Formats: sequence, C-alpha cells, structure tokens
Amino acid sequence: MSTQTYRPKALRVSTVLISGLAFLSLAIYSASQLAYPESVFADDGYLSYETRHTTIHYLNGSELQSFARGIGRGLVGLFKPSKSDSKEVASKRIESILDEVCKILDMPPPRRKITIRVHSTHDELVRHFSEFDDRRDVPIAFYAYESASVHVSLEDLSDKILAHELAHAVISDYFGKAATERVQEILAKYVDMHF
Ligand SMILES: [Zn+2]
Repeated sequence: MSTQTYRPKALRVSTVLISGLAFLSLAIYSASQLAYPESVFADDGYLSYETRHTTIHYLNGSELQSFARGIGRGLVGLFKPSKSDSKEVASKRIESILDEVCKILDMPPPRRKITIRVHSTHDELVRHFSEFDDRRDVPIAFYAYESASVHVSLEDLSDKILAHELAHAVISDYFGKAATERVQEILAKYVDMHF
C-alpha cells in the first residue's frame, strides 16, 4: 500500500491487445488512474501458492492445473501437468517466463512479490476490472500497479500474455512512477516482440 498523501490511492492498469496484429503494433492503451477497492483481495476463498517471485491466487486445483497448462512454452509446453504436479510446473513456468522477461528488459525481478490472480473466465475478469475501471474496452489481461497484481483469465491465457503483464510488473518496480504509462507500454511491447 502506498503511504503517499498527495494523490489518491490509485492503480495503473495495463493491457494486452486482443489481435495478433495489434499485439505487435505500438498502439497505446489509455491509462487508468482509479481507486482500487479495499475489498479486492479480501473477497475470496482463493487459494494461494508462492513461487520465488510471485504468489498465485486460484480457486481450486483444477484451475491451477489449467493455468499451468496454459502458460506452457515450446516443446516443454507439450507436457501436460496433472493436478498433483501442477503447483511445481506452474512455478517453474512462471519463473522461467519472468526470467526471460528480465533478460529482455535487462532489469532485475521486482523486489516485492507479484500477485497473479487467475480468473476462471473472461467474464469474471471483466467483473473484477469493472470494479475499478468503467472503460468499455476491457482487456484480456491486466496489471494493477498499486497492488502489484497480474490478472489473467483461463479463457485467454498464453505464455506471451503472461510475459506481457509480468513485464509491466518488472518495469513498474524498476522505474516506479517515473515512467509514464506510455513508456511502460512501449517497453512491454518490446518484450512482446522479443519473447
Ligand atoms: Zn501492456
């Protein structure tokens, strides 16, 4: 939580674009600076699992399994984890993606843990997003600056999408509020191109 008094508690929301074309474009999503409800992380019966640099919040074992499968990369990604090894596989895959993002950006991993909130459906992510942002264009995934949380849905999940949002976490931690939304998005898109 911020202790700053000169501005309201706010968050920055970053987005990934839906189409492949847009994914590679330098189109910039407009920034959001809206209050983040206190209830956001107090609402849930969510389970959590700690990796080295992140905490995954998920509803149940099946969801964690789907999440682990959804972020598989390359040949290794062909391996489909069972429920029993999904924690370990999710952890390895997240840390591997984060490691590559950090290498591309030449920045260290964030000092504070990144929360990764796994939403079952896009609709659920939309509901969550709408609690603090009333834009019509709801992204398929986003990063909330103040809570250092990445939000993804199992319906729109890939290693690239997670990499983009993790890039926002890395960039935000590195620059703090010194980097404008636009600068952050340009850097995150640089990761898209090289990931
Ligand atoms: Zn972005």
